[in-house]
Amino acid sequence: MNKLTQLHANIDSRVASIRENNTDWQCQMGCDGCCNRLAEIPRLTMAEWNLLHNGLTALPLEIQQEIIQNVVALTEQTAQFIVCPMLDKSKGICRVYDHRPVACRTYGYYVQHDKGLYCNDILDRVTSGVLKDVVWGNQNTIDRQLSSFGDSKDLTEWFAIVTN
Ligand code: SF4
Ligand code: SF4
Repeated sequence: MNKLTQLHANIDSRVASIRENNTDWQCQMGCDGCCNRLAEIPRLTMAEWNLLHNGLTALPLEIQQEIIQNVVALTEQTAQFIVCPMLDKSKGICRVYDHRPVACRTYGYYVQHDKGLYCNDILDRVTSGVLKDVVWGNQNTIDRQLSSFGDSKDLTEWFAIVTN
């Protein structure tokens, strides 16, 4: 098992444990609030990009073209929030779900203790005390592990490397 696959397995285990004790957890197919409101262009390590690229090249060509256009549009965007270029907006689902970056796997289940990192739906439940017993994953630990994988680049930079 390589380092990224091991990290995914650790995240999956934490996610499963949270979901097991909270069977009505909001993160599920069709919930795309976070994918529609990214605070910044995602950054990926090379290992994450290689996995994502495998997923992208397996998509039908017309979808690949659409995603490339979305990425080009990102480089010119000035809006506060970013819609992920890999999101199928009509269905609210990720087109590269099995190949998605680590941040997508942890969001909704991991927190940075000084920042929160909750989406609004989860924050409402945290604030109301409903989720007080949840043992959240530690995003700082994930970030430290990812930094040991090597440098990260913006998604737009990775695309530029393979499309130029
Ligand atoms: S983090 Fe929030 S918006 Fe994203 S999938 Fe989970 S509940 Fe939905
Ligand atoms: S890669 Fe998939 S899960 Fe991650 S933000 Fe984009 S659409 Fe959402």
